[in-house]
Amino acid sequence: MTTNFKDKGDHYLLNGAKMWISNAPFADIAVVWAKNEEGRIHGLIVERGMEGFTTPETHNKWSLRASSTGELIFDNVKIPKENILPNKSGLGAPLGCLDSARYGIAWGAIGAAMDCYDTALRYSKERIQFGKPIGGFQLQQKKLAEMITEITKSQLLAWRLGVLKNEGKATTAQISMAKRNNVDMAIKIAREARQMLGGMGITGEYSIMRHMMNLESVITYEGTHDIHLLITGMDVTGLNAFK
Ligand SMILES: Cc1cc2nc3c(=O)[nH]c(=O)nc-3n(C[C@H](O)[C@H](O)[C@H](O)COP(=O)(O)OP(=O)(O)OC[C@H]3O[C@@H](n4cnc5c(N)ncnc54)[C@H](O)[C@@H]3O)c2cc1C
Repeated sequence: MTTNFKDKGDHYLLNGAKMWISNAPFADIAVVWAKNEEGRIHGLIVERGMEGFTTPETHNKWSLRASSTGELIFDNVKIPKENILPNKSGLGAPLGCLDSARYGIAWGAIGAAMDCYDTALRYSKERIQFGKPIGGFQLQQKKLAEMITEITKSQLLAWRLGVLKNEGKATTAQISMAKRNNVDMAIKIAREARQMLGGMGITGEYSIMRHMMNLESVITYEGTHDIHLLITGMDVTGLNAFK
């Protein structure tokens, strides 16, 4: 993290930038994690209209096209002292936010997978080839059987994580595992489901291709698939493979 702020007596002076921020082009405020002069991370509220604060939009996305994405640029932005988030500092503060977002994604990915599965299942009963519905062929049933199995396993993982969360016991590593597993599961199901629709699968008539493209963002944001593998790897070995 290179974004930083300096104490200037009656205000803080913020400098740095961050790419890939959802809603950046129109958000009224941004919660920004930055390091102070001692290198400690704090949260600051930056308000649209502050001098030196700009939010250029990221264009040409082929994924999450309905969601606006942009960059946050801080060029000597004066931040009033009351805009610093109280009571929390250090890496644990932003990591706590990531835990919550990743937990939500673990559930959301299941929804995308279920929609792909439902669409493929319905289509397999309607589409007639070689004199019968394609759902009557063993190869198509194999796809559907594997899809519903993987969805069920992911649901159980997310449900168990929810129980642990309610009890205040869910760990960062457990949440990471669920995010990685469930998004990976959903992408694979989207690919299989799309094939079951043949040529129709690539059209906007059905939601599968949209899910497939959006899931390419989901497998990257809130920690990439590979970084989550490293989190689990470190959790089980105690060895850091990040660098
Ligand atoms: C649509 C969208 C919306 C987003 N919204 C937000 C947002 O609102 N707020 C926010 O803060 N961020 C947001 N992000 C950013 C997102 O979290 C990052 O894109 C993501 O963390 C990956 O970082 P990166 O793009 O810099 O990839 P990089 O870090 O450059 O990674 C590139 C590749 O290298 C691999 N890699 C990197 N380091 C290692 C390593 N040590 N070992 C092995 N492999 C490694 C990665 O797994 C990846 O495959 C968003 C991203 C997208 C696409």
